[in-house]
Amino acid sequence: MTKLVPVLSAHWDEKDSFTIEAYTRNGGYKASKKALAMDPDAVIQLVKDSGLRGRGGAGFPTGMKWGFIPQGDDKDHYLVVNADESEPGTCKDTPLLLANPHVLIEGCIIASHAIRAKHAFIYIRGEVTHVVRRLNQAIEDAYKAGHLGNGIELVLHVGAGAYICGEETALLDSLEGFRGQPRLRPPFPAIAGLYARPTVVNNVESIASVPAIIENGAEWYQAMGTEKSKGTTLYSLSGHVKNPGQFEAPLGITLREILELSGGIRSGHSLKFWTPGGSSTPLFTAEHLDVPLDYEGVSAAGSMLGTKALQIFDETTCVVRAVLRWTEFYKHESCGKCTPCREGTWWLVQILRDLENGKGTEADLAKLLDLCDNIMGRSFCALGDGATSPITSSIKYFREEYIAHLTLGACPFDPVASTLFELANK
Ligand code: SF4
Repeated sequence: MTKLVPVLSAHWDEKDSFTIEAYTRNGGYKASKKALAMDPDAVIQLVKDSGLRGRGGAGFPTGMKWGFIPQGDDKDHYLVVNADESEPGTCKDTPLLLANPHVLIEGCIIASHAIRAKHAFIYIRGEVTHVVRRLNQAIEDAYKAGHLGNGIELVLHVGAGAYICGEETALLDSLEGFRGQPRLRPPFPAIAGLYARPTVVNNVESIASVPAIIENGAEWYQAMGTEKSKGTTLYSLSGHVKNPGQFEAPLGITLREILELSGGIRSGHSLKFWTPGGSSTPLFTAEHLDVPLDYEGVSAAGSMLGTKALQIFDETTCVVRAVLRWTEFYKHESCGKCTPCREGTWWLVQILRDLENGKGTEADLAKLLDLCDNIMGRSFCALGDGATSPITSSIKYFREEYIAHLTLGACPFDPVASTLFELANK
């Protein structure tokens, strides 16, 4: 059985884990010293060899992304860290930054050196004030200790709070002071990113994984995980479980194993459905308990590893209501740039509301799927596609539950409505 392996989360249980004293006591800032003494290309090669892939959702190889930055071009280069975590259920970067902000700062120093950037930015959601405060303190302490300011400057940028700003080009627009909306690509950020300069945009967990790789070597990292998904990662368990939280394990662990290691589903209940990577990834059911949670395994089973946000729902949950809540989120967060998503998500909510209230018809179910078909692959960015995933997958696995709403004329999980229905049909 795969075991939990705390690397990023190794010292989270120490009371002062977020301080520079604790980080240094636990061996912090040694990796950046080592990396700064290396040739930048050698650092990129080491990260390439480790097999580290982006932890923000797409899983693109981190070292390869760094290697796209043109060298010797006499232009400013930028590193931008995406800390705009906001997908429902996703909660790995926020706890990481609260427990150990210095590992991200050290990762920024190493990555900036590798891509020959003098300026790095961390873009974070404004709502998480406690994390902003903690990160600001950590940056101040890193400057005082001389880790920052000697050729690498780090700026924390606080966003106003928009899910779309987690999309890398919308994030760059927002960072430049514009309204956060995705940009047309090409050009890609590696060629024309922040201020039209070569830019690497990486997720918090990706950059925070780098110091341990520099310290322990590519082979050490390669030895964990599966054939194409290397290393350890943070899985966030939430919902109807006994012990929600972050569980770090090698990629490829299964939900069954994570549940066994974490205490399982809440007593007296059973698993109904779950998300493998946040609310924008197609739902899984109990039949997917043994799917390896790596990029390939989850995709072969019909979903996406995404942000590894394992949201667990037991048999007491109405899947239609859960999907409606997520869809309301996507409608609210649609940036409005493209028609399929802007108009489509609005209609998805109207139809789902009717269905959830038992007011729809079977024709509405077909219309819902048709709408999803017209949004998927026709939207400007992944938000539109992501909005359709919970709908299509829930209809695939729980069509009879949608029909039950229509037959009952109400939600079957509403105790009053279902009792009245039973009485009326006696
Ligand atoms: Fe904006 Fe949605 Fe279009 Fe993305 S898909 S650009 S969020 S309207």
